[in-house]
Amino acid sequence: MDDIEVIHPVPLVELIGDAIRLSRLDGSRAAVLACTGQIDGADADEEANLVLGERLERVLRDGDQLQPYRNGWVVISSDLEGAHALSPVVDRVVEALEQPIRTFGQPQQVRAAVGVALGDRSQDPESLLLGADLALEASRARGGGVETLEPNLGEAISARLRDETDLDHSIGSERFVMFHQPIVPLGQNWNHPRGVEVLARWLHPEDGLVGPDRFIPVAEITGQMNNLGIELLRLACRDLAHTANENAFLALNLSPQQLSDMMIVSDILEEVESHGAPRSALALEITEEVLLVPDADVRETLGRLSAAGFKIFLDDFGTGPASLDSLRQVPLDAVKIDGSRISPNLDWTFIEMVVSVADQMGIPTIAEGVETPDQLEALVALGIDYAQGFEIGAPQPLLAPVAEPEQDAA
Ligand code: C2E
Ligand code: CA
Ligand code: CA
Repeated sequence: MDDIEVIHPVPLVELIGDAIRLSRLDGSRAAVLACTGQIDGADADEEANLVLGERLERVLRDGDQLQPYRNGWVVISSDLEGAHALSPVVDRVVEALEQPIRTFGQPQQVRAAVGVALGDRSQDPESLLLGADLALEASRARGGGVETLEPNLGEAISARLRDETDLDHSIGSERFVMFHQPIVPLGQNWNHPRGVEVLARWLHPEDGLVGPDRFIPVAEITGQMNNLGIELLRLACRDLAHTANENAFLALNLSPQQLSDMMIVSDILEEVESHGAPRSALALEITEEVLLVPDADVRETLGRLSAAGFKIFLDDFGTGPASLDSLRQVPLDAVKIDGSRISPNLDWTFIEMVVSVADQMGIPTIAEGVETPDQLEALVALGIDYAQGFEIGAPQPLLAPVAEPEQDAA
């Protein structure tokens, strides 16, 4: 079995770098299109997304490339003779995405959400991908359509690039803190352990306390996430040692890249052990994206973390492409239903479905983003095991001052 060749996929940024270099040779340009198909206002599920990928594959020009990206796809297009050459490419992508799709026999309308970034000669691959990603975000926020980021780095990209540099200076310089948000047991389950989720904040050199939605995506795209992840892990373990026990858990978010890091299992073990914290009290939150990577190594890593005694929570369930079946593919200790299924309107059908599958699997459910007493009451009636959200408590710095362990015995 040892001689099976494992082919590691070439990272997206490298492929984009190749396209830019290729374009430089003959004075043409490269572009990145980040796209998803939106069905009923959400990203297409796993099955539908695969169909969309097949369709995109068929409309690509020679030399263009298709790669999975977040909940959708990225098209890397090179050899473009200027901006005008891009529009037929974009049109074909939109047309491919917007054919009705059949899932469970019912044809469903698909709305294309496409973010386009056209590179120029001096562009680096990270900023091109950041640009397409930003544009896709803007398109999603409008409910779909094509958004284009003009070349020469729009204001948004330069802001993100500044963040990249500032992050470099901040990582390793004690400029991150963890806020804690309570996760409470509901209904009959008052004897269940209580928990907290730790949520990272960055003490930005100029802007003060900055939330993770601004810096985690930058760190993920630029390759800074593994170093940042270690620092956040260390902070989480320090809190774990102070606050958690068999009757309380602490949940830490892991980015998909962290799980592809060969060292992650030993890093986590080492940090937890060096803080003398109980392993079973640390929960690692992973996202659906992780379940969709066709990478046996990631699954093996999750298996090892679970076997080592850590808990694995599936985060943000109900936002993206993963199906209920995918819940069975990795060892899970809880499913967190995304806040968009709770607020502003409770999605009864979806929640009932998740509760029923989770019950069959014997794992608890956690509702995120609970904002009103009515929602809380409904969640109890639906048989949800835990709740988290502003109604219960917003994330805040660890309030109770904890005694630092004696540093020097001298
Ligand atoms: P998440 O894991 O889904 O975390 C929950 C987010 O919902 C938090 O945002 C939290 O402040 C917010 N929230 C809590 N209750 C409510 C509510 O009732 N209503 C609404 N609308 N929102 C609520 P935050 O702290 O800004 O974190 C955003 C995301 O950043 C997190 O989403 C997580 O994906 C990521 N993140 C945070 N900390 C870390 C970390 O240490 N490592 C990694 N890799 N990602 C992190
Ligand atoms: Ca989370
Ligand atoms: Ca979440």
